[in-house]
Amino acid sequence: MTRSYWQRQHQAAERIADIAIVGGGVIGCATAFWLRRLRPQLRLMLLEASALADGASGRNAGFILPGASADFLKDCRRYGETRARRLWQFTRENRSLLLRELDPAAFDWESSGALIVAGSAEEEARLQQAVALLRSDGIPVIFLTSAEVNRRLQAQGYRGGLYLPEGGCLDPVAFVRYLAIQSTATVLTHHPVLALMPCNEGVRLETPYGAIRAGQVLLALNAYLPRLLPETAAYVRPVRAQMLATEPARQRWIPCPVYSHEGFFYLRQLRDGTLLLGGARHLHLEEEVGYDDVTTEALQADLERYLQAYFPQTTGLRVRCRWSGTMGFSPDGLPMIDQIPGLPGSYWVAGFTGHGMGYSFRMGRLLAELLLGQPQPEGYDLFARNGRAVFAKDASAPNPAHP
Ligand SMILES: Cc1cc2nc3c(=O)[nH]c(=O)nc-3n(C[C@H](O)[C@H](O)[C@H](O)COP(=O)(O)OP(=O)(O)OC[C@H]3O[C@@H](n4cnc5c(N)ncnc54)[C@H](O)[C@@H]3O)c2cc1C
Repeated sequence: MTRSYWQRQHQAAERIADIAIVGGGVIGCATAFWLRRLRPQLRLMLLEASALADGASGRNAGFILPGASADFLKDCRRYGETRARRLWQFTRENRSLLLRELDPAAFDWESSGALIVAGSAEEEARLQQAVALLRSDGIPVIFLTSAEVNRRLQAQGYRGGLYLPEGGCLDPVAFVRYLAIQSTATVLTHHPVLALMPCNEGVRLETPYGAIRAGQVLLALNAYLPRLLPETAAYVRPVRAQMLATEPARQRWIPCPVYSHEGFFYLRQLRDGTLLLGGARHLHLEEEVGYDDVTTEALQADLERYLQAYFPQTTGLRVRCRWSGTMGFSPDGLPMIDQIPGLPGSYWVAGFTGHGMGYSFRMGRLLAELLLGQPQPEGYDLFARNGRAVFAKDASAPNPAHP
């Protein structure tokens, strides 16, 4: 990209902020919200390469689910029971904070609960086994047999699963925009940050339209982080997800978000009858990587097959819209936070691995506390980079499968 003599002559003088947030997705905007709440007088600037919510935050299904995977025993196996319990509490706090601090009507929040439905006998047994453990932590949950799941959804062929009354869903674009407005930060859209460098006591951010000088910076770029900080390619990889939306159906069969087959399929039905369905990535692991914003015929056909298999009544319903989004996967499936080398008091966060909405608002508070100088805010140790796994250097290493 080049800039003419005239454009340079007229570009804004260097702008100043106490804290600059780079990335106008849900994490950047939630952090801006909490910084404003905790330190009202701060000069906050939010820089976004494109428009607010143009990345994964505006392309997702809008599910707000608990835990790293909504499958408690799987989380226990992966992270140990203590850490899994804390991850569940962290994501539960996300939901309760969101309902307490915000106006949920502003982003079409539905306190619908969520169904986590098994795709195999083994998964079904695991979900059933989790019930007692979840209840012992005060988490409301009901196990539903296959017949009960199919009756609730007016579907066929589903196995049993869990109903989590605390699950919910929202309109993700409205959510991100609402957070940005509430933060009253200076928002500069279409301002990609091209480079960062230390300057005086802070950091200088280069954009095509002039520089910004800030005391501190947060890089909330998720999948795009390695493009600005190449050394973080060991911790975050771009993985594609695809979705579709049908024309509105006459009836509403699906009253809450449905997360099935270990989360490799997810669907919901909007109030107007529109069905949103995503997933099938596990059937196309080799192709569903990188930054290309495209849909593929093969994966979209798998999504349609799924819909017809479980909801034959949708036959003939036309698909209105197909899209893709880029998720940032971490090696162990959990988000990661670290200091930016050479920039004291500045941080990056990435690696939400397809679950960023479930952490979003609570994560914004954690990041704001960190930026305001708390050395160990509650929950930080769950996500700090130190000692965590890294991706193999070999770019052809297998694509991580976990949803
Ligand atoms: C199809 C799909 C379905 C999903 N469903 C769910 C779900 O139902 N529930 C859930 O919890 N999670 C879901 N996710 C995951 C969730 O969307 C992400 O984890 C979350 O949005 C990550 O938010 P973020 O703010 O970290 O990243 P992003 O939303 O990707 O935001 C990063 C922003 O940084 C900007 N940017 C990039 N480079 C620069 C630069 N150099 N300068 C300035 N700005 C830059 C980008 O334009 C982008 O807007 C889904 C994801 C996809 C793709």
